Amino acid sequence: MKSRRRIYEGKAKILYEGPEPGTLVQFFKDDATAFNNKKHEVVDGKGVLNNRISEFVFGHLNNIGIPTHFIKRLNMREQLIKEVEIIPLEVVVRNIAAGSLAKRLGIEEGEVLPRSIIEFYYKNDVLDDPMVSEEHVTAFGWASPQEIDDMMALAIRINDFLSGIFLGVGIQLVDFKIEFGRHWENDTMRVILADEISPDSCRLWDIETKDKLDKDRFRRDMGGMLEAYRDVAQRLGILTENEPVKGTGPRLVK
Ligand code: UDP
Repeated sequence: MKSRRRIYEGKAKILYEGPEPGTLVQFFKDDATAFNNKKHEVVDGKGVLNNRISEFVFGHLNNIGIPTHFIKRLNMREQLIKEVEIIPLEVVVRNIAAGSLAKRLGIEEGEVLPRSIIEFYYKNDVLDDPMVSEEHVTAFGWASPQEIDDMMALAIRINDFLSGIFLGVGIQLVDFKIEFGRHWENDTMRVILADEISPDSCRLWDIETKDKLDKDRFRRDMGGMLEAYRDVAQRLGILTENEPVKGTGPRLVK
């Protein structure tokens, strides 16, 4: 195979130089990490599922006019994307209390929030991605006030759209994390959705049983991570019942 220039390697994905200027190839790895890489396993087949689920979500978002970096899926593990300059923020949208919000504010997991809440975290592994306010974001120049407005408006549209899609297949969208990037078209720049949306970056609960169908299965040592991701893919109609995304179970990396 022709060797490609690797642009960036993260915990769950690798970015390679794309076939044309302004494009990249996003490769989904099987690595599962949590707690800033302190917990790390390889879950066979996770990358394949996340590639498909993220393709489904980004494809629909493109179709309803939400600008994203996604161009097309190339194969089982790779997608062609537009090159962007990543804004160094994790934007979290919450509908139901869970995870760090439940812990920080002493709210019971599962409590429906009075309204959807948007939070910003500064992407910095050394600092463990601290939560920051809009004041910090603008004061330190991570994003402009206009970019904050754009990210928040897009986040709300994405939340509404995804909540509906998941509700239709019996899943509650509890919360999720998204990332944005700056994309230049000729001389104009606009903020577009980047990264991925998958059970790695969302909390998804079965609406009846409240079963967790997301990365909390890994974070909380519950087992059944791959099966849960496959369930999400099957419910969304991405995988047929018999399509094999086989796993040999998690392998400890360190
Ligand atoms: N999340 C993520 N990457 C991170 C941190 C959080 O994708 O580095 C997602 C997480 O899956 C959840 C949402 O963002 O859907 C909110 O996570 P939370 O702040 O509750 O943190 P956690 O409990 O995961 O540490």
